[in-house]
Amino acid sequence: TRTPLIAGNWKMNLDHLQSIAFVQKLAWSLKDASHSFDDVEVAIFPPFTDLRSVQTLVSADKLELAYGAQDVSAHDSGAYTGEISGQFLAKLECAYVIIGHSERRTLHNETDEEIGAKVAAALKHGLVPVLCVGETAEDLEKFGPSAVPVAQLKAALAGVASDANLVVAYEPVWAIGSGQAATPEQAEQVCAALRAELATTLSSETAAATRILYGGSVKSGNIAGFMREPNVDGALVGGASLDLDEFSAIVRYKK
Ligand code: 13P
Repeated sequence: TRTPLIAGNWKMNLDHLQSIAFVQKLAWSLKDASHSFDDVEVAIFPPFTDLRSVQTLVSADKLELAYGAQDVSAHDSGAYTGEISGQFLAKLECAYVIIGHSERRTLHNETDEEIGAKVAAALKHGLVPVLCVGETAEDLEKFGPSAVPVAQLKAALAGVASDANLVVAYEPVWAIGSGQAATPEQAEQVCAALRAELATTLSSETAAATRILYGGSVKSGNIAGFMREPNVDGALVGGASLDLDEFSAIVRYKK
């Protein structure tokens, strides 16, 4: 049994002072709702500069909220100006790190090879990679629904141990920030194909244990439909994760 994971990718929003206010309000909101983190895990992905503040707050108030970064360097240390090592993220008690988000693939030309190296670096430092895959509208038309995300997954896992602890996020590029989410059936089809690929590339045990999230225009109004699908184990939420009431409602999708 896989514990559902609702994850908020803040992208380049909320500075460290805003992050403190937001995390406090989110914690209060979920506490008021008697949210059980054993039932549904919650993780946030703020900008790097917020992480120390989030760590302080989470540890001081013993919050059950998990957090992580939106990217990590493939290297451990050295002459890599502007890069952030997985060692530093581990020291800030990050549980997760997003790798291969479509915005990094397109705006920063990240290749499958670089993404694979980042996945390996994250695992090496004890961080759980949230590996993002997804096709563009053009890919969908040319290759059908699963081919591109499955190929991206396979490429990124090339050097990974068969029992690796990771999360996969299926984010169709055409659904990100567009207000046009995939249907639950579309998400299920691709997530099932991704799980089958995990079984082939890693192992059937790892495939059964790995959480696969859907991302792309997830809102409080459509989350329940995705969560009813057997191969969708949670959501990676962008825009709606910045709205406290919306994000809190998405976390409480069962109620
Ligand atoms: P939206 O929820 O804003 O569509 O963004 C999805 C996303 O990219 C999360 O990583």
